[in-house]
Amino acid sequence: MIIILKKQATKEDADKLLGIIKEQGLKPLYMPGSERTVLGALGDERVLAGLQLDAYTFVDRVVPILSPYKLASRDLQASDTVVKVGDAVIGPGHFNIMAGPCAVESEEQIVTVARAIKAAGGHILRGGAFKPRTSPYSFQGLEKEGLKLLQIASRETGLPVVTEIIDIYDVEMMSDYVDMFQVGARNMQNFRLLRELGRAGKPVLLKRGMSASYNDFLMSAEYILNEGNPDVVLCERGIKTFVTSTRNTLDLNIIPWVRQHTHLPIIVDPSHGTGIRDLVLPMAKASVACGADGVMIEVHPQPDKALSDGPQSLYPDQFAKLVEQIARYSDLEGRSL
Ligand code: PEP
Ligand code: MN
Repeated sequence: MIIILKKQATKEDADKLLGIIKEQGLKPLYMPGSERTVLGALGDERVLAGLQLDAYTFVDRVVPILSPYKLASRDLQASDTVVKVGDAVIGPGHFNIMAGPCAVESEEQIVTVARAIKAAGGHILRGGAFKPRTSPYSFQGLEKEGLKLLQIASRETGLPVVTEIIDIYDVEMMSDYVDMFQVGARNMQNFRLLRELGRAGKPVLLKRGMSASYNDFLMSAEYILNEGNPDVVLCERGIKTFVTSTRNTLDLNIIPWVRQHTHLPIIVDPSHGTGIRDLVLPMAKASVACGADGVMIEVHPQPDKALSDGPQSLYPDQFAKLVEQIARYSDLEGRSL
């Protein structure tokens, strides 16, 4: 629940309530504002119901948070969360472009593509070093070697790096190489991994599971927030439906819905969302129009030779054109690249 204090309430008043909330085994939140202070109490619903904090004269009102996710809720935090990854900003006023190959394959591949992405105006370099593949016989990624190559490409271009983590035991090792952890669709409900990333001190890009409801998705974000990490960026990457002509069905409804219900930024991955190169640009434009905070685009120097996801990867010159077009659409939406 949210406890809104009266304007004249003092810090001592706030501390008193925070003490009571803590004594009851609940999680206290202190959110001082320029106008008035807001407190939060999270935990067991029955204990919350028994608190009766509106009995205090310095309390203006107590508002329950009805959604199952609390920290991610707009009710708790009205203002949009802004996430910074290196020099890149993800949040209102900006349109963020993350791009790179599906998988890191070699130094030449990743450095070439990173240079092209930087030159075109991309903000963050992506590339999988650990690949969660459907088949054990498919390329699984270069693993730690891939992380080192990402670091080389990052130093060469100045682009920060986002890459997928698939195992809880890699958090510490990967921290030396990445600026942002990506949690893939297949791990959206790997709750131990989410909790660990909540304590890792780096921003997290959380991709939607391929059959996850909006609530499931935000509950997964809640796991990360609840461990003290506020820097969570959501990513819509398409869901499984009866449509088989595209790899997934890109559910753009989620963008304005998320905007209403949570303060967290959300980006779109039209590469996995469609699985088809020619559909990436139109759906990237649609992402700007529906209010997304950015896109993640797969780009490969030679898509026909890619070890994974070649058919949905853009050629570098196509990516440069995409950025040019997106810049114009973003302008209309009051966002700059
Ligand atoms: C990826 O970004 O390369 C990836 C594997 O995406 P997803 O988890 O959305 O399938
Ligand atoms: Mn991919």
